[in-house]
Amino acid sequence: MMNDKWERMDREIEQLKSDNLFRSMTVFDSPQTSQVKVEGQKQHLFSSNSYLDLCCEPKIKEYIRQILEEYGSGSGGSRLTTGTTRIHVELEETIARFKKREAALVFNTGYMANVGILSALAGKGDLIYSDELNHASIIDGCRLSKADLVIYRHNDMGDLEEKIKAHPGRNGVIVSDGVFSMDGDIVDLPGLVDLADRYGLLSMIDEAHATGVIGATGRGTEEYYEMEGSVDVLMGTLSKAVGGEGGFVCGSRTLIDYLINKARSFIFSTSLSPATIAADIQGIRVITEQPQRVQKLQENICYCCAALNSRGIKAESETAIIPIIIGDEGRAMKVMKLLKERGYYISAIRYPTVARGSARLRLALMSSHTREDLDGLADALKECMTLAENE
Ligand SMILES: *Cc1c(COP(=O)(O)O)cnc(C)c1O
Repeated sequence: MMNDKWERMDREIEQLKSDNLFRSMTVFDSPQTSQVKVEGQKQHLFSSNSYLDLCCEPKIKEYIRQILEEYGSGSGGSRLTTGTTRIHVELEETIARFKKREAALVFNTGYMANVGILSALAGKGDLIYSDELNHASIIDGCRLSKADLVIYRHNDMGDLEEKIKAHPGRNGVIVSDGVFSMDGDIVDLPGLVDLADRYGLLSMIDEAHATGVIGATGRGTEEYYEMEGSVDVLMGTLSKAVGGEGGFVCGSRTLIDYLINKARSFIFSTSLSPATIAADIQGIRVITEQPQRVQKLQENICYCCAALNSRGIKAESETAIIPIIIGDEGRAMKVMKLLKERGYYISAIRYPTVARGSARLRLALMSSHTREDLDGLADALKECMTLAENE
């Protein structure tokens, strides 16, 4: 009898559906701002990573148009062949200046940056120490590197030190999210850098949700702790607060030269298109020139947590990510649906992105949310959580 080649996939899809874990995409009919049109309906958006609401910024769109006219659509090659234009170099200089580093390197996405950096910096026989809540792209980079992987308890520097001591004299990297993507908390940077320096390990921080969000002028985790220049490998993305697309790493000239020669996701992929690079350059410029956007975002974070707490909802964060833990996957989906009916679009996050039974609403704030938006959200959340609980 012939094997049914689709049977296994159908079965797994059915299982996901019965576990409330099946995922599908929502189609937006508008640009990414604080008010969007989703499936024909107007919604307040509280789940975007565009924290500074830069996707529709006129100054950025204007620069994209100019560069598009000058350089055209595709880049036509990988960076080491024909895909490096003057503006690719300009973006890297802009990032290095913004993060106060000698040099920077741009990858096509943050995912590709993590995969490329980790597999270049660590190999067979080396060690990677990775926080248990690190982003999937870090996990995949660790796997690809073939290094021995040591997972330490979330942000627990005592546990990390014990694990380092168990492997004396080995080469390695300690890697952590700067701001954790599903919990919104901030890495213990002083602790991590101290361990890396004392034990001769490289420190690597992923600034995806820190850039443009924390630190007095939005420069991220190092600025938040006033520890500029202390991290060996500072990685991030241009796809979140910056409002564009692409991943980056910055650090010493040695680090960047090494990665140019060793990071396969950098070497073997066509470089980003000029229009995208233009969006990235101008995004960083706007953040630099308008620190009030970052301040407004930080005020919104404080205001939102207080508004939720005053309605009896537990919420605590210093970053744009405010997790509201629901627990049960089905109930989290229910609350999300009820909120959507009231015009609030918020993503429910479930296993495998977070642990089973710790499903949550992941509130993501923008600098352009108004007090009215935030009060409205808190009221709606209170109502929908109560409704879902009493069902
Ligand atoms: C989003 C994210 C990435 C991936 O960045 P992309 O540019 O979207 O590929 C990497 N690390 C963390 C912590 C992220 O949240």
